[in-house]
Amino acid sequence: MPIRMDNIVETDGALILGAGIAGLFTALKLAPMPSIVLAGTRPGVSGSSAWAQGGIAAAMGEGDSWQNHARDTVTAGAGLCDPAIVDLVAREAPERIHDLLALGAPFDRKADGTLALGREAAHSMPRIVHVKGDGAGAAISATLAARAGQSQCITLLEGFHAIELVMEDGRVTGLFARSGMGHDARLVLFKARAIILATGGLGALYAVTTNPLESRGEGLGMAARAGAMIADPEFVQFHPTAIAVGRDPAPLATEALRGEGAILINGRGERFMTGVHPDAELAPRDIVARAIHRQIASDQPVFLDCRKAVGAAFAQRFPTVYGACAAAGIDPATQPIPVAPAAHYHMGGIASDARGRSSLPGLWVVGECAATGLHGANRLASNSLLEGLVFGERVAQDVRGALTPGAMRGIPPAPPRFASPAPAHVLREAMSRLVALERDDEGLRAALAVIARLERASTELAVQNMVASAKLVTAAALARTESRGGHWRSDYPAPAQVARRTFLTLADAGRIAAECHQMPAQSVQK
Ligand SMILES: Cc1cc2nc3c(=O)[nH]c(=O)nc-3n(C[C@H](O)[C@H](O)[C@H](O)COP(=O)(O)OP(=O)(O)OC[C@H]3O[C@@H](n4cnc5c(N)ncnc54)[C@H](O)[C@@H]3O)c2cc1C
Repeated sequence: MPIRMDNIVETDGALILGAGIAGLFTALKLAPMPSIVLAGTRPGVSGSSAWAQGGIAAAMGEGDSWQNHARDTVTAGAGLCDPAIVDLVAREAPERIHDLLALGAPFDRKADGTLALGREAAHSMPRIVHVKGDGAGAAISATLAARAGQSQCITLLEGFHAIELVMEDGRVTGLFARSGMGHDARLVLFKARAIILATGGLGALYAVTTNPLESRGEGLGMAARAGAMIADPEFVQFHPTAIAVGRDPAPLATEALRGEGAILINGRGERFMTGVHPDAELAPRDIVARAIHRQIASDQPVFLDCRKAVGAAFAQRFPTVYGACAAAGIDPATQPIPVAPAAHYHMGGIASDARGRSSLPGLWVVGECAATGLHGANRLASNSLLEGLVFGERVAQDVRGALTPGAMRGIPPAPPRFASPAPAHVLREAMSRLVALERDDEGLRAALAVIARLERASTELAVQNMVASAKLVTAAALARTESRGGHWRSDYPAPAQVARRTFLTLADAGRIAAECHQMPAQSVQK
């Protein structure tokens, strides 16, 4: 399709791609430095952020400490967390919650006025700040968007679809984004002195996901195609209790319900988690998700039974989940909720240091698209919004320090080419079938073959970005011949003796894929 490139937008400040919590918080922290926040959808309801239910983890309760929070995070991360990053995030968490309070976030409080703290799986203490039970993401997103909208320093632009980063002299200096459809489609070149990706996760690369459909790894793919180092892409977290009523994306039954005492039962009414892990329903997410997956694989439907734990108070205490159930004709106060695991969170991402710098000069990353080393092989519940806040502050500080006054260099680069989109459902179906909760050599090779076909078939850059992300997840999963955290290989069920993070580029993933097509099964080693 012919597309006009009739606009160049330049800023002397920063360009932030993504208007979820990470992008908006970074922009607010950057002020008075000017920034443009560019997003596909409307700030305030954009990305996974607005859908978050449980809340944000921070050690703010009596008897809790940042060391406890750090310990729980490291335990969940199954040997792959970066301890220095974990410490700094846990230590800075309460301060970031105070920032949100100062911005107007309406966290739930107890009768005595102190913050009400919830408990979620694998947290040793109640430490989740929340809003109206399960409405944290919507309330915080709305608060941040309103504040950003009032700021003289922040320009919010919605309806733009970014497709390619621009590199000049080895530095990221801008990006191309498309707006409009059909004859109205136009291409805009955005240039800035700092480019910050806050593009969220990649759950929607899977056919069964809790993520909004815009969370499909395009930021990760764009950065990878530009040569950025990617870390731990094989680690995808599956939420154990997506509500299984055939909706795409699948609505979520928050983990806080299990924190309240809701239990998992199978079609025979048996509670099966007590036989799987000492913490039963509050075991780490990957363990709960796999236990549910196995029940379903053995033809047992699984239900979250909240009748005793929440009962008649359900509609008032968990209005978002209640609404999703009611829309499917289920009354969770009196009926068990059908649930199944769904792709939910990406622990891996664009490799970042403690300042949010990627490996590419000029490119910072923040939020779910980044891999800071906080989550290791498995994210602790409610640590992800927190990561966006802590690194939003850190990126803002670093960008302010790194930018010296001066004009932008260079001539605008040639606009990228376009073609019609390829069917994403082929990719999503392959990822859900072959690169999900239980992986093996044969399935991962088959997935790489599908990815290679899609790569050849499409010149559409948005598709190339998605395919690049899928390739990184799949190639790294094939290379990791062990089971750890969110990555389970049925052909390598034990963890390796030495825990090692993955760092690879798209070219490395391409080599793994090429090797695997030449070699017999079971012979691709890390
Ligand atoms: C249902 C659900 C419940 C959750 N509950 C919790 C919870 O209770 N606690 C917790 O800590 N975490 C939770 N999470 C995870 C958490 O919500 C996310 O990790 C977090 O919101 C990510 O924030 P972000 O700002 O990095 O990205 P997002 O909020 O996903 O925002 C991404 C932004 O990037 C934009 N974007 C992406 N690609 C492009 C492109 N190509 N062009 C233009 N714009 C683009 C999008 O439009 C969007 O504005 C939950 C996730 C889901 C899905």
